[in-house]
Formats: sequence, structure tokens, C-alpha cells
Amino acid sequence: MKTVGYAAHSADAKLVPYHFERRALRPNDVAIDIQYCGVCHSDLYTVNGDWGPQPYPLVPGHEIVGVVSAVGPEVERYRVGDRVAVGCMVDSCQDCDQCRNHEEQYCRNGMTPTYGAPDRISGEITQGGYSKHIVVREAFVLRIPDSLDLARAAPILCAGITTFSPLRTWQVGEGTRVGVIGLGGLGHMAVKLAAAMGAEVTVISRSSRKEAEAKASGARGLLASTDRQAMQAAANAFDLIIDTVPVKHDLNVYTPLLDVDGSLVIVGQIGPLEAPMTTPLVFGRRRVAGSLIGGIAETQEVLDFCAEHQIYPECEMIRIEQINDAFARLAEGEFAHRIVIDMASLSVDGPAPGAAV
Ligand SMILES: [Zn+2]
Ligand SMILES: [Zn+2]
Repeated sequence: MKTVGYAAHSADAKLVPYHFERRALRPNDVAIDIQYCGVCHSDLYTVNGDWGPQPYPLVPGHEIVGVVSAVGPEVERYRVGDRVAVGCMVDSCQDCDQCRNHEEQYCRNGMTPTYGAPDRISGEITQGGYSKHIVVREAFVLRIPDSLDLARAAPILCAGITTFSPLRTWQVGEGTRVGVIGLGGLGHMAVKLAAAMGAEVTVISRSSRKEAEAKASGARGLLASTDRQAMQAAANAFDLIIDTVPVKHDLNVYTPLLDVDGSLVIVGQIGPLEAPMTTPLVFGRRRVAGSLIGGIAETQEVLDFCAEHQIYPECEMIRIEQINDAFARLAEGEFAHRIVIDMASLSVDGPAPGAAV
């Protein structure tokens, strides 16, 4: 199937229109017309080569929503016209203990990311959602509930599941005291999801500038990490802290905020941190952990949860030809929440009219 996307051809190169082929349907494949794709920080890091050399040309994008256009003969759960989604993975071994435990993201044989990795059967490099079409194995296709607005659902596939999974793993519920560091793409979803689970949520931010926004998202308040007195008063105040900061930072500011047996879970930064002090960990049996997206079943669960509670990411819609400008703004930290590309702005016949390449 001929399609078109926006690809990077080398590290630090701009994304440009790229015509390529999606594979012919295998018996258990679903073909999807992509309608919207969210823009994730990791798209930027990956195409820039920050996480290692990449197999260019590379089409990023792993917050994909659209409509089924064709199905292979063995597909059971989806039909043409169904509203569906694809997140950060498109395959895994389906046979190891982690896959059998619905934790495909921790597959012992390595899950297949949505873009930039060899397909398990053909070896061709997977290409992501900044494109018109995608073909994905049925087991990695999610259903968009009828009551969920397709145009605003895309960021649930990465920002949503990345924060939902640790909230579930640490059994957040009525009255759990949850701190969320940062109120960006991941942070604002963490606040909304935890609040809907009944938690008492506090946003932890450098200044109190975002207090009104934190409260509007469902937080009870905001703790300014630069306010020494307020930070001391908040010692032992949290059962769980979700740390969404996407750059190198100092955990020692935050670990004393945890109560005995509390956990701080890193979901934003993949890479080095400032050296941690063990004192607050030892004197309080506090834990520092990490968490990677979530399994396919749990990703379906967060989509259903967002539909039930009418939780939506804050989205800024852009046209595909604005993607390079969006990446530049993302690198500068200028986006409050999540960017979503309206894929109607991309034409299969060529670059969209007036496209800046
Ligand atoms: Zn992502
Ligand atoms: Zn596996």
C-alpha cells in the first residue's frame, strides 16, 4: 500500500514529506487510515539521535488514532470502519512470561516499537504515525470507545498510559496522596487520571505560576519546589510521586516528601540524574522506581477509563507542515501540554499545498 508521511533523513534534519509503502496485509493485520497523531517528546529525541543512531529515513509518531480501512482474514475483533488506536508498540514475542502477563512493554525478547525498529517477520524498519496509513498486528490495535472524541484521544496512547500504569501499579485509590512533578504533557494527564481515581493530588512545580491550571486539572493545590518552607512543611506528605521531568534533575529535592514506604516513580527522564542521596531512602524505606508505558490490556483500560470519566489531554492541533516549527517549540519547552497533528492536512498525492519543506 502506497502512503506518505513526514520523515527525518538524518539526525537533526528537518522532517520532510516521504513516500513509502506499508506492507501488504498479513492474515492477522489491521490497516488503519490515520486521522490524528500526537507529538511526543520522545519523537524529537529519537529523530535527533539523542537515544542512539537511528535507521533513517524515519517517520516518528506513536500516539495514533484512526479508522480501520481493511483487515486480514484472521482478524476477529475489528471491522472496516471501527475507530481504533495504536500506541508505542506494534509487536512483541507474545510467548514470554511478561507477554503472557500482559506486560508486552517488558517483553523478554524486546517489544517492537512503533517506529525505528525491525519488523519481527520481514525485518523492514517500522514507521510511525506521522503518516496517512499504518498496518499493525491485531493484538497491538486498541479500540477507541464511542464516547471518546477521536480528535483529542491521541495523547492517551503515550502520555496517558505512561502515567496511568504507575498509578495502577501503586494501587492509587480514594485518598491516596499523590504528588506530580511537572504539569506538561505527562504531568497534566497524571493529575487528571489520579484525581479521577479519588486521589488527593498535588502538583509539584518550580514556581506557583501554574497553580490555577493545576487546580483546573483536578489537583488540590500546588507545591513550589523553590519555596523552602513549604517544602519542609510537606515532608512525609505523599504516598506516591510521579516524576515527569524529562531532563537531568535532582531527586534529593523530592524524596523527603515521601512518607514511609512511599515511592517516587520516574516516567519522564531516560538518562542520567544528579547523584541521589541515600539518607531519605534508608530513613523511611522510601523507594525510587521507573515505569515504561503500559501493556496493551492496560492501554485499552486507560482509553476506557478516559471515556468513562471524560478525561481528555489538553491538545493543540497543528497541520503536518507545521511539525518542524512544533519540534523547535517542543525543544524550547514552549508547549504547555500536547501537540496533535491533524492528518487530514497530509495528502497522499504529494506534499500538502503550501507545505514548507
Ligand atoms: Zn511517547
Ligand atoms: Zn515477550
